Amino acid sequence: MGHMPYIKVENNHLVVPNKVTIGYIEGDGIGPDITTAMIDVVNSAIEIAYEGDRSIEWEKIEAGEEAYEKNGKHLPEESLDQLSRCVISIKGPLTTPIGKGFRSLNVTLRQHFDLYANVRPVKYFPGVPSPVKNPENMNMIVFRENTEDLYAGIEWKYDSEEAKKVRNFLSTQFGVNLTDDTGIGIKPISKFKSQRIVRKALEYAIDNKRRSVTLVHKGNIMKYTEGAFKDWGYAVASEMFGDITVTEDEYTQNPDAFSGKIIVKDRIADNMFQQILTRTAEYDVIATTNLNGDYLSDALAAQVGGLGIAPGANIGDIYAIFEAVHGTAPKYAGMDIANPTSLILSSAMMLNHMGWKEAATSLENAVTKCYAEQKVTQDLARILNIKPLKCSEFTMEIVKNMKKN
Ligand code: NAD
Repeated sequence: MGHMPYIKVENNHLVVPNKVTIGYIEGDGIGPDITTAMIDVVNSAIEIAYEGDRSIEWEKIEAGEEAYEKNGKHLPEESLDQLSRCVISIKGPLTTPIGKGFRSLNVTLRQHFDLYANVRPVKYFPGVPSPVKNPENMNMIVFRENTEDLYAGIEWKYDSEEAKKVRNFLSTQFGVNLTDDTGIGIKPISKFKSQRIVRKALEYAIDNKRRSVTLVHKGNIMKYTEGAFKDWGYAVASEMFGDITVTEDEYTQNPDAFSGKIIVKDRIADNMFQQILTRTAEYDVIATTNLNGDYLSDALAAQVGGLGIAPGANIGDIYAIFEAVHGTAPKYAGMDIANPTSLILSSAMMLNHMGWKEAATSLENAVTKCYAEQKVTQDLARILNIKPLKCSEFTMEIVKNMKKN
């Protein structure tokens, strides 16, 4: 247990002491390599920004294969207690064991702590190889609903008793006839959960002076789930933030009257996948349902260098877990060659979330400088046809860059 105090929550606000205990899960595969890198970089960023006035004590939380070997459980009760005490934690990737009835640890964590917003900022770092012509136009942040939609796990195999009952119910009650070989999945989308994710996206846009929030949905086809998400999203914008937002329609009719307001617009998901390629610069903050968000955030990351550098976080009203968005890359485990950028940029999101913005900025600038100078790990060096740095060497470069500023 940490000796420094934990973050407190008062009236739904975080109170972050200057000397604070933060939880971390190393993760499986390359997890330990990239976690060591992340901790080194964060400690340096804090030391340089606050010269000893602030610091983090890192509390190790066991989960995944390491926990299973010791306790026979991938996510022991004690680890959940620690995550709860720490309020804010950061995690490396965890293996999802393949086996019947095993729920992904990530999904379990999201549900246990009601981390309803999956937040994925995507922007370009000059020097990173990209498959598009103008990757510098990309600067978006996705707020993906994390708890409902087709991910709620309400589904039945085609030949199960449950599927049979549901098919029977649909047939007798609604005259909807499905053949016996039909599996069933349910897509729940609620007003409360739609509005709280859109609210989070709008709050972010306001706090960070962003230009627009786009609601991405497939409401033309799924009217009462995806379409409702869009309608509830517009409603929350006008009811809670009416004085600082304007709809795209209103804005287009009279741009001068609404200058400085955040534009709220919506796009149908399939069109959005074109727009992110053809009109990249026109999109900013995105709020969307779970499945759309899953596809969209990986497609966005691919435009600017892929999952190895894209950070992410799962955030609720109180708790937050910051994470590398990629998996455990088992073939690189323990070889000191993985790219730690995803987890390092997630730690910058964490510092921002804690209000330690100076440290976050110096960390991001140091990463930017590495890429600008083409100092990269093997995943990107291979594409650029240059000599790669090891994970630990790349980490030292980031720390060196911070010290120079
Ligand atoms: P993966 O992200 O581990 O790997 C995909 C590809 O990207 C591989 O070629 C890998 O070598 C490479 N890669 C990923 N991260 C890298 C990095 N930081 N540096 C260099 N190369 C990197 O995805 P996968 O292979 O589908 O999954 C492997 C395991 O990870 C599975 O058990 C899966 O369940 C788990 N997983 C966990 C999370 C998470 O904890 N958030 C997310 C995705 C997958």
